[in-house]
Amino acid sequence: MTPSADFIVVGAGSAGCIAAAELARRNVGRVLVLEAGPTDNHPLVKMPFGLAWLMGSKRDWRFKTSPQKGLGGRQLAVPRGRMLGGSGSINSMVWFRGRRDDFDGWGVKGWSWRDVEPAFESVEAKLQPKQMTGVHPLVQALSGLFGGNSDDAPTPEYESAGIFCFNMRNARRWSAADAFLRPAQDAHDLKVMTGCVVDRVEFDNGQAKRVVLVDGTKLSAAKGVILSAGSISSPAILMRSGVGPEEHLKELGIELVHSAQEVGENLHDHPAAGLHFAGPGSGYGLTFSQLLAWALAPFRYLFTRTGRFASPTVEGGAFFNARGDTGAPDVQCHFIPFMLDWKGSRFTLGSGYFADVCVCRPKSRGRLRLVSSDPRVAPEIDLGLFQDVDDVETLVAGLKRLRTLMNKAAFGPHRAPEVHPGPAVSSDDALRQHIKTRGATAYHPVGTLRMGDGTAPVTPRLAVAGVRGLWVADASVMPAVTSANTNAPSMMIGYRAAEFISEDAA
Ligand SMILES: Cc1cc2nc3c(=O)[nH]c(=O)nc-3n(C[C@H](O)[C@H](O)[C@H](O)COP(=O)(O)OP(=O)(O)OC[C@H]3O[C@@H](n4cnc5c(N)ncnc54)[C@H](O)[C@@H]3O)c2cc1C
Repeated sequence: MTPSADFIVVGAGSAGCIAAAELARRNVGRVLVLEAGPTDNHPLVKMPFGLAWLMGSKRDWRFKTSPQKGLGGRQLAVPRGRMLGGSGSINSMVWFRGRRDDFDGWGVKGWSWRDVEPAFESVEAKLQPKQMTGVHPLVQALSGLFGGNSDDAPTPEYESAGIFCFNMRNARRWSAADAFLRPAQDAHDLKVMTGCVVDRVEFDNGQAKRVVLVDGTKLSAAKGVILSAGSISSPAILMRSGVGPEEHLKELGIELVHSAQEVGENLHDHPAAGLHFAGPGSGYGLTFSQLLAWALAPFRYLFTRTGRFASPTVEGGAFFNARGDTGAPDVQCHFIPFMLDWKGSRFTLGSGYFADVCVCRPKSRGRLRLVSSDPRVAPEIDLGLFQDVDDVETLVAGLKRLRTLMNKAAFGPHRAPEVHPGPAVSSDDALRQHIKTRGATAYHPVGTLRMGDGTAPVTPRLAVAGVRGLWVADASVMPAVTSANTNAPSMMIGYRAAEFISEDAA
């Protein structure tokens, strides 16, 4: 078989696009990217508000969790982007690096804040995240909540609130595919193939040599393979390739290449719960008085790049300490100035707004396992939500403080009463029940291929331990989730991967 490429990158998501582009820029040889989904060339991908329709569409993998004990057996949607740009093509584009001590706390050589900061800067030079303009007055009003310079974007480093930064350009999504992949395709030896669902990697004497697609096509990689299929799919591909917990692979009839007990372990996400507010004249929503604005929204967006279709729904929020201690912020609030449903219907009438709290550094851990060796069968995704009682108690405290902050914010004529769960739900027990029945996640699953020394499945230089020529570059390698949204850290990981792989493969 003639080599299809020197390096094959599996998955063109937030990290994969950057790993591939940066490898190609470093002239490591021919780079081939295999993406399961289609291109991102769709108006709903580019228009910020489009994410409201993308979730649950064919551009979403539409995964589900297993029944979550901590949620009374409920199953949650686990949306993951399935196209060029990956989850970065269906996300809200909120941009946070995380806290400096998130990276120091990983305790992994080469990943301290000092190590990762230059990579963030290189990524940001191309993504150019900025505070959103034209936000709803409700979001503007958050800025004064903790004093200080109200023009500054909030940060997880200290208690702060206001308008978030986003990776948008001229009110259009500007993803890793836009900023890195496409420019590199034009300038370097980089080929991208869409519609290629990868089943597994094949090895010759422990060296990754080929990638096998679900239709049986084999593509060879002369120098190596990089898994960038995300926290759900990368461990699944690795297990189907014979690298994973020995007993589990045996049960599924998968031939063992290397026994790696921790593959699929350490799965976690930011657990979240929220408050809904509704009342005339508050946030955006489907009301008689807003009908004209909604009818004109597509044209306003098309011609002026403003209006509600220019909004990625989340426009701002806060970081604060749930118990009001002087310690570091331990919860993040996402503020959405739109009426969101809380009754289970697709459309809700009325105007309103929504604010959540999510635990910045959750302690609960779940795990990912294969259900079958058939790549068309989704894996079992157990997020292990609220298995550690501290996560529940932090959210209970966080919801209480969120209420206080929402009451304090200078919302003026846009203020609306809390309608769900409602002020009557105020005791610790009642809030625990609210979390159990309504709790969800921030869509930030990480950790299934944690990097580190010893028993970690991935080395600090992102190589899969125990085999050769195979690396991982995506959110799955985070030992612990960062204290805020995970897109920027995933991109930083993609960038670091190219640095390591270009050095080590040479
Ligand atoms: C709805 C939603 C909203 C979010 N909002 C934000 C936000 O506002 N800010 C933020 O920072 N983070 C946000 N996130 C999280 C953030 O987008 C992700 O953490 C980040 O994109 C993860 O990057 P990744 O490279 O690890 O994986 P992904 O970006 O998911 O990339 C994985 C890629 O691999 C492809 N793939 C998977 N399996 C295969 C296979 N078998 N063969 C070939 N290709 C495959 C996928 O199609 C995808 O393109 C959000 C996520 C979602 C889903």
